[in-house]
Amino acid sequence: PPVIELDRVGRTYPGRVHALRGVSLRVRAGELLAVVGPSGSGKSTMLQLMGTLDRPTEGVVRLLGHDVARWGDRQLAAVRAKRIGFVFQQFLLTAHLTAAQNVATGLLYHGVGHAEQVRRSTEALERVGLGHRAAHRPAQLSGGEKQRVAIARALVSGPAVVLADEPTGALDSATGAGVLDLLRQLNDEGTTIVVITHDLGIAASLPRRVELLDGRVRHDSASASR
Ligand code: ADP
Ligand code: ADP
Repeated sequence: PPVIELDRVGRTYPGRVHALRGVSLRVRAGELLAVVGPSGSGKSTMLQLMGTLDRPTEGVVRLLGHDVARWGDRQLAAVRAKRIGFVFQQFLLTAHLTAAQNVATGLLYHGVGHAEQVRRSTEALERVGLGHRAAHRPAQLSGGEKQRVAIARALVSGPAVVLADEPTGALDSATGAGVLDLLRQLNDEGTTIVVITHDLGIAASLPRRVELLDGRVRHDSASASR
């Protein structure tokens, strides 16, 4: 099955705000996909639904073929921790933890012993080119390095998909380009990645683009090429 499937999904917030309407989309294993659209078009809402942080008010969200509606909140939290990695614009690292300890928080729900946590966190930091920064705290790292640590944290559990919300939004363009290159490299190595961005240049450089406008899919480069 697809990693994530949105089947005629709608999300209406209280106050009759139709953030998403009739959205159907499949994210397949191995894809690198950009979700683009202006502010208010529904990108964050879509990411929250894909990440099972929110539930649709219409339609079905499936994660690895399973209807998310069949899971209770606690079950869903466990599935989310194992299957989905999140990357945010503002990194969301914990200030008093080292880079390696921040990465290890991605394993909190995995029942992994301390030595194994250290081993996997070190390996994840090496994958993002930051093996030499393992003992640094966030304040000692540049913006690009912080985002790489956040990406390592998203990867450390071996998720089925990484969901990145404006991952370059807080970085200057050269640093942002480096982070994007890293995401491409991880995708080449097999990681499925969804990137939310309002930057059309970034979107144009990725293999598939889904454009949102007023809560609907206005264009999907994958369906256009079929
Ligand atoms: P984007 O990420 O593209 O900026 P959002 O998904 O954040 O779009 O928002 C889509 C629409 O839904 C906007 O009109 C926004 O104001 C509204 N919205 C988003 N989240 C909420 C919420 N929790 N409650 C009410 N309205 C919301
Ligand atoms: P972004 O620009 O990254 O989409 P937003 O400012 O749209 O960020 O949203 C930030 C957070 O606030 C999200 O969790 C979103 O769901 C929530 N949000 C957005 N619009 C509203 C709203 N009108 N009412 C309540 N919450 C909202």
